[in-house]
Amino acid sequence: MDFKDLTRKERSEALEALGERPFREKQIFKWICAGAESFAEMTDLPAALREKLAERCSFRRGKVEFCQTSKDGTSKFLISFPDGEKAETVFMSYEYGNSLCVSTQVGCNMGCVFCASGIGGKVRDLKAWEILEQYLLCAEYTGKPINHIVLMGMGEPMDNYEQVSEFLRQIHDPAGIGLSYRNITVSSCGLIPKLEQFEKDFPQVNLAISLHASDQETREKLMPAAKVYKLDELIPFCRKHAEVTGRRVTFEYALIAGRNDTDADAKKLAVLLRGLNCHVNLIPLNTVTESGLKSSGRPRALDFQKKLLDQGIQCTVRRQLGADIDAACGQLRKNHPNRPC
Ligand code: SAH
Repeated sequence: MDFKDLTRKERSEALEALGERPFREKQIFKWICAGAESFAEMTDLPAALREKLAERCSFRRGKVEFCQTSKDGTSKFLISFPDGEKAETVFMSYEYGNSLCVSTQVGCNMGCVFCASGIGGKVRDLKAWEILEQYLLCAEYTGKPINHIVLMGMGEPMDNYEQVSEFLRQIHDPAGIGLSYRNITVSSCGLIPKLEQFEKDFPQVNLAISLHASDQETREKLMPAAKVYKLDELIPFCRKHAEVTGRRVTFEYALIAGRNDTDADAKKLAVLLRGLNCHVNLIPLNTVTESGLKSSGRPRALDFQKKLLDQGIQCTVRRQLGADIDAACGQLRKNHPNRPC
């Protein structure tokens, strides 16, 4: 068993079972967040405890297998975990700071037709420490501060809620990284029951919803999960969420030629979101060859944006950071055919 596979509560229990006091867990947690490679390094633990732990369990780290940097300065990391599974993480630089986009699963079960992450389904959930590890390795590798984390990489965070919520608590804990919840954004395709739980547990964490259509029929065709979690429940949830938390909800809307990008679609979207405290992020579709879908293109995106703005809906067209290295939204995968590693 690897010590880090446990949640912090389980670690405390394991230490207690060894006759240790609870504060030992916090000491070890600090070492994990400082990037320790082994128990042996944890010099503020008694030597006997370090030895006991090393005898009973492993303490392993992930590894940066490969890093690719885009013309725009975005870097994509391929990170491997001790069982050999891999996930991608993207580091982005903005004027106001650096953002890291982390994966929550290897693969994804949601099956959105435009997204590369779901090709081949889900392989496994990532453990909380493996999500944290993406942060630690990228911070070490780039040597730059990370001000914002978005859970928008591979995987559906609400389909791995237990580990994702453990990760959120860990990255927030002042004993380790101490990142403010307000600097974290979780994106979901709309698994409503888990989102209800998320709202209770993390009212300060920002929520982004992958919307991509303004009517049920179109949304179902693009996103199979929408058949279960319907728009006429999702939008009322978002209205309530914005009110309960006092925080603006972000909606992601990828513009796909001929599918969801007409003036009529913009009008419907404006009606759907009227009065909701939200921001729409328009993303000209990033290329995923297998999907056969085409982007509406930037000029159409700007027109679509204008239509929404005219109707009083706040919205921006997202820059396509990292598209030249397949690091843009929806382009992350568990394996790339021609990768040099
Ligand atoms: N599963 C979560 C987290 C992934 S976030 C979710 O669905 O929200 C990644 C974002 O990129 C989502 O909004 C997703 O719908 C979007 N996306 C996926 N494929 C895309 C593509 N080819 N072009 C643009 N955006 C895409």
